Amino acid sequence: MALAQNSHPVPELEELKHMQARFAPVQMRVDTSPLSVADRTALLPLIHAARLVDDLFLRQYWSGGAECKSKLQRDRTPLGLARFDYFWLNKGPWSALDGEQAFLPDVPAHKPAGANFYPEDMTKEEFESWVKTLPDAARHEATGFFTVIRRNNGKLTAVPYATEYASELKKLAALLRDAASKTGNASLERFLSARAAALQSNDYYASDVAWMDLDAPIDVTIGPYETYDDGLFGYKASFEAYITVRDDHETEKVKFFSSHLQEIENNLPIDAKYRNPKIGALAPIRVVNQVIASGDAAKGVRTAAFNLPNDERVVREKGSKRVMLRNVQEAKYTSTLIPISKRVLAPRAQSDLNFDAFFTHILAHELSHGIGPHTIVANGQTSSPRQQLKDLYSALEEAKADICGLYMLQYMYDKKQLAGGPAEERKLYTTFLASAFRSLRFGTNEAHGKGMAIQFNYFMDKGAFRENADGTWAVDNTRIKGAVRDLANELLTIEATGDYAAGKKMIETLGQLRPATAQTIARLKDIPTDINPIDVTANAIAPASREF
Ligand code: ZN
Repeated sequence: MALAQNSHPVPELEELKHMQARFAPVQMRVDTSPLSVADRTALLPLIHAARLVDDLFLRQYWSGGAECKSKLQRDRTPLGLARFDYFWLNKGPWSALDGEQAFLPDVPAHKPAGANFYPEDMTKEEFESWVKTLPDAARHEATGFFTVIRRNNGKLTAVPYATEYASELKKLAALLRDAASKTGNASLERFLSARAAALQSNDYYASDVAWMDLDAPIDVTIGPYETYDDGLFGYKASFEAYITVRDDHETEKVKFFSSHLQEIENNLPIDAKYRNPKIGALAPIRVVNQVIASGDAAKGVRTAAFNLPNDERVVREKGSKRVMLRNVQEAKYTSTLIPISKRVLAPRAQSDLNFDAFFTHILAHELSHGIGPHTIVANGQTSSPRQQLKDLYSALEEAKADICGLYMLQYMYDKKQLAGGPAEERKLYTTFLASAFRSLRFGTNEAHGKGMAIQFNYFMDKGAFRENADGTWAVDNTRIKGAVRDLANELLTIEATGDYAAGKKMIETLGQLRPATAQTIARLKDIPTDINPIDVTANAIAPASREF
């Protein structure tokens, strides 16, 4: 069975330029001067390792990826150059923002569901009936993260990544060992050595544990991780890399907020009997600045935060870690939120738009997932909001995290734990209003968008957000605090009681865009959707050689 080749007309130069323009080019710079000389030397092999991951991922994503790349590189016409740029941004010939439709001729019309993890002619049914015949250990391998499925004399067989990608992984392991020998940080040395060994042994457990213990000025995530590209089963892990520098100032801020979390819980605007006298430990949060991201992490819309590892065994034993890429967030803020704010805010409110307020609220959102009801009693049984609210849970929990994040920051202003005052409060709420439009642009089908619609409509109904006569929007500073408290109370009470009917009613009445909001969003069409990072710092350390 051959894959259907793309027979649709493909975009010509002008259209391709429009498609590319949805990703605003941003120069990514990271201050490496606080690093030790040893760590600065270690960056060079790490950047080379990240670039190697790009080529490895290209091969995982599509069997024709590497050949397609070199064919495009030889075409120096304006169309050829535009095609190369957009191919590189998508790490393949399918456009991430357009339902993964092909934008090149003579390639499959859509991304093969199983990427290059399975034979392209294999069906789901064939795989499933094959797996049933296997003994336990072999079944584990076949459905595991780190094997590809190939055909050998017509029969399916599982091939470990360490074998399939042996020559690339040998080079990659050597670069990680080189960096390990250069850094002066023991936890980074341990992680890099363990990961180098894992690439060649195919056993990633010890290196995932070492990654959890990693606490170093250079923060590295490299290897096979996310399974989204395996559209058949979600089993197979794509290679990606994030080479970053830890942001000590922001990491301290997280620690400071965390130390006040129990106090916030004790003061949540909810019936006291629902408050948790001892909140659970939260996954550690690291704030970093990205020097270079590659492979699966440099495809389409860019990642601004991630939770790893995915291996349940490591998560059970060591928990997981959340990494937040501050300069990626800032690039998105500059390229999308500032232009959005120029259309949705009145000119005099512009000065209240503030990146620190934006990022601090994101931190508060993450921490807020850790407070509020987690273990509840429903119908006399011990349960959780997730079990009781089922399909509604994600949207309600995202709305709760946003709102409790605002509530938390207001509480800390009021208690003088954070330097506050009317100006700081205006920045927080005005930036939140503008960023609401950024979230709502992505639609209300997904949890974050639906969660934001709930808040936006609730604030409109309370007069806390209102539309000006000229079509811009404003925060009513006399009403916003009360509205935040009331909505936090409603959301937390729905979670505490596991009240599905109340959750359903809230989503039905508030979970959709209203005409006035939809009209504003329609005026944002030409503003970039995301960013296209240019790794200025990485390129200065290790000049990229794109062999043209
Ligand atoms: Zn969240």
